[in-house]
Amino acid sequence: MKKTLPSSASANPGQLRSAIIPHLDVILSDRALSLHGVTESERESKDLWLLFVSRWMHDLWTRSKKSFRRGALFCLYVVASLVAGVAYAQPAPPATDSPGSDFVLQGVVRGSQNQSYVQIPFAVPVGTERVTITFSYTEKEQHTALDLGLLDPAGLRCWSGGNKPTLTVGLMDATPSCLPGALPSGTWNVLIGVPNIRAGVESHYTIHVYLTRTGAVAALPPVLREPLRAGPAWFRGDLHMHTSHSDGQCPSQTGKMVPCPLFFTVDAAARRGLDFIAITDHNASSQYDEMRELQPYFDKVLLIPGREITTFQGHINFLGSTDFIDFRLDGRTVPDVNTLLRSAAAVGAITSINHPLSPSGEICLGCGWTPSTPVDVHLLTGVEAVNGGSEQHGLSDLPFWNQQLNRGCRLTGIGGSDNHRPMQPLDQTGSIGSPTTVVYAADLSTPAILDGIRAGHVFIDVAGTHDRLLEVTARGGSQSVNAGDMLNAAAGDQVEFSARVTAAAGGTLRWIEDGQDVAPAAVATISTADSTQTLPWTSDGRRHWFRAEVAGPDKKLWLIANPIYINWGIANDCNGNQPVHAEGIKTAR
Ligand SMILES: [Zn+2]
Ligand SMILES: [Zn+2]
Repeated sequence: MKKTLPSSASANPGQLRSAIIPHLDVILSDRALSLHGVTESERESKDLWLLFVSRWMHDLWTRSKKSFRRGALFCLYVVASLVAGVAYAQPAPPATDSPGSDFVLQGVVRGSQNQSYVQIPFAVPVGTERVTITFSYTEKEQHTALDLGLLDPAGLRCWSGGNKPTLTVGLMDATPSCLPGALPSGTWNVLIGVPNIRAGVESHYTIHVYLTRTGAVAALPPVLREPLRAGPAWFRGDLHMHTSHSDGQCPSQTGKMVPCPLFFTVDAAARRGLDFIAITDHNASSQYDEMRELQPYFDKVLLIPGREITTFQGHINFLGSTDFIDFRLDGRTVPDVNTLLRSAAAVGAITSINHPLSPSGEICLGCGWTPSTPVDVHLLTGVEAVNGGSEQHGLSDLPFWNQQLNRGCRLTGIGGSDNHRPMQPLDQTGSIGSPTTVVYAADLSTPAILDGIRAGHVFIDVAGTHDRLLEVTARGGSQSVNAGDMLNAAAGDQVEFSARVTAAAGGTLRWIEDGQDVAPAAVATISTADSTQTLPWTSDGRRHWFRAEVAGPDKKLWLIANPIYINWGIANDCNGNQPVHAEGIKTAR
């Protein structure tokens, strides 16, 4: 429930004066207010007369406040300040074609304002989905203390005290201290509390305001998407799990099975040493607020917003956006899967088909991939090739992935534990991180991890170890590519595939071409902790895909790389069930 602060009109004169004087400080500082989209010269020429009046009133107030009757002058001051404040403190709306806009509010809090509250207004245009502010001020060494809050047009939205320099309020999530929900357009105010400032001290504050129009993580202001770790690396994570926000369960204090708090899921990921997890509750968006709270504490585990869009025709993971997606695939509300997938793309999410070969019906409601209308696979990013425990239990989804690849559909193979029991011991199949999806990314941030998945720079560590690697590359002519990439090779060209494997001694590596073993001779036993196997191949100029896999002595898969795509640009429309060996390249490179 939001609490409403008194408006300026209903506040007592002391409160009102405290609220208005800093407005004037902002207004009277020639370069104090920098508003995106409005140049200084434009504002000065348009509102010069107002500036003059305001400055005159301010000087008059300062010089003669001991000589005039305080009440009369104060009234005059109030009127002029309100007019000036409205005229100057409203930033121009951001350009409608911009995913976000930002501006800076600067001003001064003075010793005379000790133990008061100050409001700094700014405009929030229609269509805004998130307001983010950062706050800094000077004179802390003089024991100046300024608290931070935020008011929307209806009342108090945030009050943080003095321990949070950044506040964000979105449709689905907000900084602890703030309330998520609809963002009404109109005049918002940064609310500065002044518990202490010494007489004669002037503290200069700077407020950066970011307005975001989409829930896509990639569109967040930089302050909300800074990498947890800089620099490119292989990052290990889990892309599929459930918490109390859908059907994740765990025993309560007294042993009853109850909806399991999200904290335990993140804690399990941290204990496993994962770098990232996507929390993918069924069709829910309520988990994002709790993730916002937990991320600063779990600053070694990136929390990716996701959800499992659960329909009667199959389950699809949406990753990377908090925007609401209507999941009601009933032929009317959402007419078909393609509409659903386009909705995801429109809000910046990537998508993957979950456990496509699972049974459907009363055994598992809508679990298998059974779309009732043709699906444009180009709209999808990936497929869950290994669902927690499915490979071990003979329900592997690898054949489905192979089938899509053979159709010419380039889908990144990923894994997901689909964990519903966050307290499950981590050495059990299907626990958090079993399987682990390992992504080569530019850094540990949601946009970079999603880019890595889009690029197919991924392998699946089925057992969820902390150290196994499967790095696949290919060289042909002047080209050198990694798993997930494409390589062109005309008929007769030589290509050399290479697979580096670590921490998998005792396993065997094999190469797969278009879903079939290349040859028995290509199966190689791995005898050292860090070994590299190569496969020479002569191109026939046609389209192929090659993948490396590592299995243990018991034949169970340990590692699954994504394919390298050869001549993938040939007549590849990924429709129907055309054979993979499409018409070959007729000309040399
Ligand atoms: Zn599912
Ligand atoms: Zn699931």
